Amino acid sequence: MSPSENDPSPRTITMGGPAEKATPDKLAGQETIARPLNDGRSEDAGNSQRTSVAADTQTVSTAPPTSAVTSRPDRIWIPDPSLHHIVIVGGGAAGLELATKLGDSLGRRRKAQITLVERARTHIWKPHLHEVAAGTMDVGRDAVDYLAQASDHHFRYRIGEMIGLDRANREVHLAPSHDAEGHEVTPARAVPYDTLVMAVGSTSNDFGTAGAKEFAISLDTADEAVRFHQRLVNRFIRAHAQPGPVRPGQLHVTIIGAGATGTELAAELHRTTRQVVAYGLDRIDAEKDLKITLVEAAERILPAVPPRVAEGATRLLRSLDIDVRTQARVIEVRPDGVRLADGDFIPSELVVWAAGVKGPDLLKDLDGLEASRSNQLVVTPTLQTTRDPDVFAIGDCAFLLNPGETRPVPPRAQAASQQSTHLAKQMKRRLDRKPLQPFVYRDFGSLVSLGEYSTVGNLMGFLTGKGLMVEGYFARLMYRSLYKMHQSALHGWWRVMLDTIARTLTRRTEPRVKLH
Ligand SMILES: Cc1cc2nc3c(=O)[nH]c(=O)nc-3n(C[C@H](O)[C@H](O)[C@H](O)COP(=O)(O)OP(=O)(O)OC[C@H]3O[C@@H](n4cnc5c(N)ncnc54)[C@H](O)[C@@H]3O)c2cc1C
Repeated sequence: MSPSENDPSPRTITMGGPAEKATPDKLAGQETIARPLNDGRSEDAGNSQRTSVAADTQTVSTAPPTSAVTSRPDRIWIPDPSLHHIVIVGGGAAGLELATKLGDSLGRRRKAQITLVERARTHIWKPHLHEVAAGTMDVGRDAVDYLAQASDHHFRYRIGEMIGLDRANREVHLAPSHDAEGHEVTPARAVPYDTLVMAVGSTSNDFGTAGAKEFAISLDTADEAVRFHQRLVNRFIRAHAQPGPVRPGQLHVTIIGAGATGTELAAELHRTTRQVVAYGLDRIDAEKDLKITLVEAAERILPAVPPRVAEGATRLLRSLDIDVRTQARVIEVRPDGVRLADGDFIPSELVVWAAGVKGPDLLKDLDGLEASRSNQLVVTPTLQTTRDPDVFAIGDCAFLLNPGETRPVPPRAQAASQQSTHLAKQMKRRLDRKPLQPFVYRDFGSLVSLGEYSTVGNLMGFLTGKGLMVEGYFARLMYRSLYKMHQSALHGWWRVMLDTIARTLTRRTEPRVKLH
């Protein structure tokens, strides 16, 4: 291990001009970077690389991702340049937990300053996106506001999509952001760092399937999930209002990919579509007109869980009249349905792509950092990228194959959370110049929610290390506790408890399924 690998002490950096000298760090007892300060006024000197405007204020529109940034944008204002600056890019399951933990420890005690860079304004826990899509979760009510979270937990939130990295100058480059009318909110900016943590998650992988980008919706972001839900409700209202009967294939939904996302979505949609119809769309016959097809290229659904659990889930889905097709490879998505490799055609009005994951394209060539074939940043067991010990990666965007293991750490919420907990501890060691400890992933098992019908899964025995199959109420409690753990990492147990009580009460006065 080279001396710099665990050494957080910043060094002389260049700012497009002569090298600047390092100055002593007042708090951590180590040297840190002296960087010139913008006074904040320069932040409005943006450029206009914008290409698209999001439909709502949640998402920030950006220039296309590229690490080859040609012009040098202005640096953001840093309140205390003498402090070690930890920048986390991506405020999801991994990044937001890490920012909160580091803010509460290092930020609060002014041992380091923490900045979270995130392209969205609010956070929704990704495993809940299928519920947003089905209408059983309301983004407006359940989202965490990044600004408020940052203010409560001693870190800074800077909105913007990372589009490039300049490792020589230790800067993250952000695209300008815009409001729904297309007006610029923030200009292109550079965020200087001493330690960078990449936590940008993953996106679904359509493997270049014809028509997938144009005609299928993925559930990668809250905006996409909301968009799917709005389309769904609109299709139902249209079908109800049309003069003729529901056409074949009209209210059919095909979900491509029967991992946890696709399977959970199928079960959730089955219930909510019936609920939407029950709200008074009485010209639609739920049993006859609605159809959900779940398509999977592998031999069985839920490849990440033991076969027994998958068989149970398949039986349940089929008993609900959900068409489960395994060993079925999609070769084309069309506006009116899905074509399979065996020549079969599944007519569908709505298609969801829920198969495969890959890292964001941004990581493919991020200023020379090593990336896996699926665009994840390759990291060592200390979660440092293989070519730059000052850049870490956690969560879905990290590729970690621990020595002796045959499979990398899976892209799952529990891995993201474990890595953020581990890295929060390691950052303190890094500031104290102690060697970093390796991350060891602990698989606690997998749980799959089949909506209100059931929850199935397997939990790993602590002592035996063997899987224990769980189902029904206990499994559902465990499933819910995963989210509660994420919430408590963000807000603390006490607030989560109050929130749970409040929601239990208000749920009785609200519709079970969101209708707009
Ligand atoms: C529908 C669905 C259901 C799932 N269900 C489960 C489940 O039941 N159990 C389970 O263990 N896992 C589940 N997962 C997987 C789980 O959600 C992920 O493993 C987990 O969210 C990964 O956390 P992360 O922080 O790495 O990424 P994310 O949670 O995806 O967070 C990434 C963040 O980075 C931001 N970002 C991305 N690019 C940029 C950029 N260039 N600049 C600035 N910000 C950026 C994004 O806006 C996002 O906030 C599910 C995933 C989906 C989509």
